[in-house]
Amino acid sequence: MSRVFVLGNATLDCIQTIPRLPAPGETLLADSLLRCPGGKGLNQAVACARTGAATVLVAPLGRDADAAVLAAAAAAEPGLAARWMESAAPTDYSAIWVAAGGENMIVSSAAAARGLAEADAIAALDDLRAGDILLLQGNLTREVTMAAARLGRERGARTALNTAPIAWDMAEALALFDIVIANAVEAAQVTGADARSAAAALAPGRIAIVTLGRDGAVMARDGVLTPVAAPRVKAVDTAGAGDVFVGVFVGALCRGAAPDRAIRAATAAAAIAVTRPGTVPSFPSSIELAPLLAEQPKAGDAGQRT
Ligand code: ATP
Repeated sequence: MSRVFVLGNATLDCIQTIPRLPAPGETLLADSLLRCPGGKGLNQAVACARTGAATVLVAPLGRDADAAVLAAAAAAEPGLAARWMESAAPTDYSAIWVAAGGENMIVSSAAAARGLAEADAIAALDDLRAGDILLLQGNLTREVTMAAARLGRERGARTALNTAPIAWDMAEALALFDIVIANAVEAAQVTGADARSAAAALAPGRIAIVTLGRDGAVMARDGVLTPVAAPRVKAVDTAGAGDVFVGVFVGALCRGAAPDRAIRAATAAAAIAVTRPGTVPSFPSSIELAPLLAEQPKAGDAGQRT
């Protein structure tokens, strides 16, 4: 059975809802506070496991109370096996502000993620095999990310990169990836092109997806550009939408879905998440995902040649 290996970070998210984003130097009173598991690695692994894909999460945790919260949350997810790497740094933490209307600002600490040693990461991926998918994001160091992707290639696994966050020059890493998913800002940063042209610029030799927030996403593959509209919903909190998108897309691929179907499932799943507060607490359940993954191809979704 194929598996998805997610190598990335795990954070405790502290989410405050506020009437509007603050100006520099301003103090605002929050309307609410939610503490929940998060981090791109953990988020994407949870969303992926809920598609029914067997998922392995490799992520660093400190030796503290936050680590216990994250380990318990991962243990409660059926289909998700966590391999925690012990870190001397505190467990990573994200401060998230969500304004009315759903716009957000996020600051994450990354000492645990950036302290993950290459040898430890590679050892934790020892059972990665041909047919598996290895999914990485931008929180780990360039060296660990590139070494893991090279291992994925050597083993015959499919390698996937979500370019968030961009903390180092990702352009040189692209050659190691079969699938690249970037949001509009990242896509423009990596390619220098505007968001829609960026998908085609990222695509030669791989599947490239640029997510466009409420406008959905565009996928470029084999010279064909497939735009996918997002369902119209009332967004209350978009934090984690990108992670749901990535986790569901990769999980669906692992379960044998064609990319066209996987991207529609990912778009529908992310639209559910934005209607609810929080990161992991907003993610669609496996019961909500099942009909999205079983969806039949729509007529007229054939895509356009680039
Ligand atoms: P975030 O950092 O907020 O998690 P992101 O910047 O990585 O997100 P986006 O392009 O903003 O990525 O959103 C990812 C996907 O989530 C989009 O491709 C879309 O499918 C869905 N999405 C985001 N915002 C909305 C919205 N307002 N309505 C419907 N779907 C949305």
